[in-house]
Amino acid sequence: METIKVPFVDLQVQHSHLANELSRAMEQVMKRAWFILGQELEAFESEFAAYCAVSHCIGVGSGTEALHLALRACNIGPGDEVITVSHTFIATALAISWTGATPVFVDIDAATSTIDVKRIADAITPRARAILPVHLYGQCADMDQLLALAQQHRLLVVEDACQAHGATYKGRKAGTLGQAGCFSFYPSKNLGACGDAGAITTNDEELAKRIYLLRNYGQTRKYQHDVPGYNSRLDELQAAILRVKLRHLDDWNEHRRQIAGLYRDGLRSDLVTVPTETAWGEHVYHLFVIRSPHRDLLQRHLHDHGVETQIHYPKPVHLQEACAKISNRRWHLPETEKIASEVLSLPMYPEMSKEQVQTVISAVNSFTP
Ligand SMILES: *Cc1c(COP(=O)(O)O)cnc(C)c1O
Repeated sequence: METIKVPFVDLQVQHSHLANELSRAMEQVMKRAWFILGQELEAFESEFAAYCAVSHCIGVGSGTEALHLALRACNIGPGDEVITVSHTFIATALAISWTGATPVFVDIDAATSTIDVKRIADAITPRARAILPVHLYGQCADMDQLLALAQQHRLLVVEDACQAHGATYKGRKAGTLGQAGCFSFYPSKNLGACGDAGAITTNDEELAKRIYLLRNYGQTRKYQHDVPGYNSRLDELQAAILRVKLRHLDDWNEHRRQIAGLYRDGLRSDLVTVPTETAWGEHVYHLFVIRSPHRDLLQRHLHDHGVETQIHYPKPVHLQEACAKISNRRWHLPETEKIASEVLSLPMYPEMSKEQVQTVISAVNSFTP
């Protein structure tokens, strides 16, 4: 059996570089022995808000919770519809269903793999309350048209920016374009904690206030509960870790973009298509996703050459068994169903060496079905 030469991601290299900084940050939290809703979280929230150039950031328990609480704070609930995509991680649709609302799936644009804005209008019913675009793989959806449609139909816009920390749309950061932006700091995201964590960004002060309440049992002051809330906090240890890592995010994203450039220049096979970069913003390459009609054979070939790959995602949300309980309708989503059989994510992490990138390129170029 061939050994792995190029892992899909490698968090160990990043953590060995940051070992001293991270240990110091964690030690301070341990010494203070204050673990929930403290000074590290407050500092991280203001630093991430400044990074995104937005007025509020609210740390929560995960990316899924960020989506859930943002929608709840927008008063979205039973009877409402939220327009989104099926070509995403299932958490997007789960968060909608947690509010009692129903996800309405729109097909994707084949070039960008994000929501096809031309198809949104047909999906708007009198029950529609919000559009929830997913900035998939690290690139923003086509937001100008989407925001115009939302305004025209009085819909809110909540962004799933869980794969797009630092990505831009016409100079503005992902997660700052609609009413609320939702981030995940799952360990392998572009900005990752050492456990579960998430955040919501917004310029709407009232919305921010409602989220502060919702994440902490609806508590206005100790043992005074004005709304039925949840328990969804970003803890002090994770906040301290994220503060260290945030200082490196731009540098890491730049490395990801350089690796993507090497892939683009090196991949020569007629049997694969490289991802499209749009003119409207910077892609931060959470994932480098190629397409091939021979995807499964290509994945096996790469595996045999020591290259680890993954598939994002092999089965669209609307075809998952769980979806019958969330949005029990027949959906016509041909691009979404087609892409699921063709996508393949190549190794991508900021610390990849040139040799590793070259190993991947050579392996892809030597593929014959
Ligand atoms: C990771 C991710 C989520 C969920 O984030 P968690 O922190 O794992 O809850 C939601 N949407 C997308 C697109 C993601 O990639």
